[in-house]
Amino acid sequence: MKKIAYLCFLILYILFSPVSHSEPDGEWQVLESAHFLIYYHPRMTAGQEIADLAEDFYPRMERLIDGISMGKIEIWVCETQEQFQSSVHAPIQDWAIGCAFPLSRRIVIQNPRIVTEREFQLSQVIRHEIVHVIFGQRTQNTIGDIPLWFVEGVAVYLSGEWKPHDHDTLLEHIVSKSILPLAELTYRFPRSEKLAQLAYAESLNAVAWIVETAGSEKLWEIIDLLGNGSDLNAATEKTLGWNLITFDAKWRESLSQRYHWVALFSSSYLFWGALTLAFFLGYLLIRLRRRRRLIKLGQEESQVDAFFREDESYK
Ligand SMILES: [Zn+2]
Repeated sequence: MKKIAYLCFLILYILFSPVSHSEPDGEWQVLESAHFLIYYHPRMTAGQEIADLAEDFYPRMERLIDGISMGKIEIWVCETQEQFQSSVHAPIQDWAIGCAFPLSRRIVIQNPRIVTEREFQLSQVIRHEIVHVIFGQRTQNTIGDIPLWFVEGVAVYLSGEWKPHDHDTLLEHIVSKSILPLAELTYRFPRSEKLAQLAYAESLNAVAWIVETAGSEKLWEIIDLLGNGSDLNAATEKTLGWNLITFDAKWRESLSQRYHWVALFSSSYLFWGALTLAFFLGYLLIRLRRRRRLIKLGQEESQVDAFFREDESYK
């Protein structure tokens, strides 16, 4: 069974609601590194590992950080699911394992043991959330208006999380013509795990498509414009020549063009598969009939032989 590729690391209503982020309940130990403050329970041993993962990734965000003053990012590592739930101060999907509060420069993640149990890499979660925080800091005047698919697409793209099974999810929905328009992913993602997985895959694909077709500098231009107060609609219009409605339509159109071989393969696969099966069954049937006939002939022959043997004996 296919595993979900991405989690809802970010809950929009948490991100954009003006909630006060008081200190999560519990006993916390703090580890300070060059750019991070890691809070964890004294019983846990993952503090240093998380600090190392975060610091290793941080230099790769140089371009996103460029031009903004970043304070230290807090990473709160929860010990239990209950502590995680209470630390995010809002309803959160059962399958979520991390959450970012970009404006507070705060990340809350599940116990690394739970992350591993759900077959995620801790580094993947940390990176994704770090991108959210830095992107949020860079676009803090406009982030509340940026469509969620773009925010998530940038997080997945810049954290380098692309995995083959996410591709499968997208292909499945291209073939069944059930791709969600980006406009439907503006404010929130579907609650169901499976559709949320699709939403993440689409978000990544749409952002990656900007880079593939227009070049990475165009993506940075869009991010710069958002940082300077433009909305995404104006930013794509200026950089790509398309407003969001046109972008959405062109991107969906490009999916069927870019992956048309998949549709062809899947339909011909079914067709040839069925045909091969029919031939095979036909072959088995013929072989069975021939075998039965040979057995019958053999029986008849042995009877004849017996007759002649008997007959010969009378000669
Ligand atoms: Zn996210």
